[in-house]
Amino acid sequence: MSFLRLLARNRLALAGLVVMACVCLLALVTPLLPLAAPDITDTGNRFRPPFSEGALLGTDHLGRDLLSRLLWGTRLSLAVGLAAAVTAAVLGAAIGIVAGFYGGRTDNLIMRGVDMLMAFPYILLALAIVAALGPGLMNALIAVAAVNIPFFARNIRGVTVGIAHKEFVDAARLSGMSDLRIVLTEILPNVVPVIVIAMSTTVGWMILETAGLSFLGLGSQPPVADLGSMLGEARAALITSPHTSVVPGAMILVIVMAINLLGDGVRDALDPRLKSGALNRPLPATQVARDAPVPAAQGGAALLSIDGLKTEFRVKGRVYRAVGGVDLDVRPGECLGLVGESGSGKSVTALSVMGLVASPPGVITGGSVHFDGQDLIGARYETLRRIRGDRVAYIFQDPQATLHPLYTIGTQLVEAIRAHHAVPRAEARARAVDLLGAVRIPNAAARIDSYPHELSGGMRQRVGIAMALANDPDVIIADEPTTALDVTVQAQILALLDELRRARGLAILFITHDFGVVAQLCDRVAVMYAGRIVETGPTDAILSRPAHPYTARLMACVPAPGGGRRRLATIPGLPPSVDDLPAGCAFAGRCDLVQDTCRRGEITLDPLTADRAVRCPTPLRAGAPAS
Ligand code: SF4
Repeated sequence: MSFLRLLARNRLALAGLVVMACVCLLALVTPLLPLAAPDITDTGNRFRPPFSEGALLGTDHLGRDLLSRLLWGTRLSLAVGLAAAVTAAVLGAAIGIVAGFYGGRTDNLIMRGVDMLMAFPYILLALAIVAALGPGLMNALIAVAAVNIPFFARNIRGVTVGIAHKEFVDAARLSGMSDLRIVLTEILPNVVPVIVIAMSTTVGWMILETAGLSFLGLGSQPPVADLGSMLGEARAALITSPHTSVVPGAMILVIVMAINLLGDGVRDALDPRLKSGALNRPLPATQVARDAPVPAAQGGAALLSIDGLKTEFRVKGRVYRAVGGVDLDVRPGECLGLVGESGSGKSVTALSVMGLVASPPGVITGGSVHFDGQDLIGARYETLRRIRGDRVAYIFQDPQATLHPLYTIGTQLVEAIRAHHAVPRAEARARAVDLLGAVRIPNAAARIDSYPHELSGGMRQRVGIAMALANDPDVIIADEPTTALDVTVQAQILALLDELRRARGLAILFITHDFGVVAQLCDRVAVMYAGRIVETGPTDAILSRPAHPYTARLMACVPAPGGGRRRLATIPGLPPSVDDLPAGCAFAGRCDLVQDTCRRGEITLDPLTADRAVRCPTPLRAGAPAS
């Protein structure tokens, strides 16, 4: 979405933009308007009220036309305020970038100087600068810019420190680029939005400061008018002729309000996190708008039964059907693998179970999820909150992102336990130590006080598993928990999960795209493509005789160690976009067994044997992988 469209979505910012556009236009055309000369005195017409003949806003204490002085003064105040903001932003940003980029002694030296400037009350500092330089508008501009430089320097230095150690800057250094070129091509483009945001929110403040200095007689000098000096000259007649104060005061109010509203809008539109909607506060549970009767649980003995689940994302008028009618059962003590390419809908299915898909834009539009006989889709938030993390727990892919960096792992484990069970803190801590021991963290009693950054990736994932086990759940949903780990740690984590499952009778829904992981851990497997299950059955049967062409092609892509040299297969083409799914089989565009009938009507998931089902009317019965 373009910057202007994002800005226009914020009504207050739009109002600020319109007001500022009008004020700036008026300021620009002031020399062309048929106004009285702003500085010509006419003491015979002093303090004429507004709407007098020939003086729309009245006259001041020297009989000068207030409308004319207001427009010329606005022009001057805007120019000085904007110039001060640009000067402070450019100098402050340059200082901040140098300090942040070079770090060490340079940073220390520069930032201590900045700290000294910031230690002065800024208005006293501005007064001292003007006193030293002498009154005058240009000196007021210098003073206002100077007192605001530290603000920009501090902001931009902080952003630069974060960027200067990113891999793309290291790559630029390795390519032999000079420091100046790195700053101009790698650092500056990344800090410009921050500079613009800081400027947009401070320019109004600088106009006020300039007006303040003029009000005290240190800015614009008679007879030249700016908004501050007009206020200063009018203060003696505040009671007898209030219009002389109200006119410039109202203009300052309008300008500063409009700039602040516009600045907030610019900040929101330029912030990439706000732009992507990431900071939109999601609902505590996924929005539910089912358009069909709730299907009854089909799972029989299943602990978790997902029937006809449909989840979609509604973004900018488009509907992305991420999950298009999924049926899955997980039985007590069973591990069900959910396999598919990235974007096939595995994670959205898993998150939909506990209503964890962010809304907006996610909406569950159909199906049911029965856990222990209760439908969780549309259940009260309090019901979901009680079950989440207690009876149904999650293990996520990246423990670095899910563990709070500022709390020790012990604090986070204790919190996970006490969120559901009113146990004394000491008892919860003892249990946390046991849990860390259970997931084979050596010297658990000492490691419990470690922060996440003090642990390796494998250790952090063990903490993630410990957290999932904290309340002895019945079901664990593991969303690619080993993808980010190296193979030796991956094998340890899988063995641990398998052991815990057997020891505790856990049911696991294990999401992965790795058939090796499936073979090692899962009793049954469900293969997902374009938001639908295309094949399901026992792991051994599917791995030895895939029935759906997609499963076969997916398995053919997996390298087999010790199998000799062979050309690795790939699946031609890309999965269809879920906002524009084709009629019939979603895999038809990539399937070399496609027939005309595949592109017509609904292809249903039909039983193949007693324990297998496949969504293809012509499955690979011989079991040979499709070439
Ligand atoms: S339905 Fe047709 S296109 Fe789809 S997998 Fe089967 S054979 Fe291929």
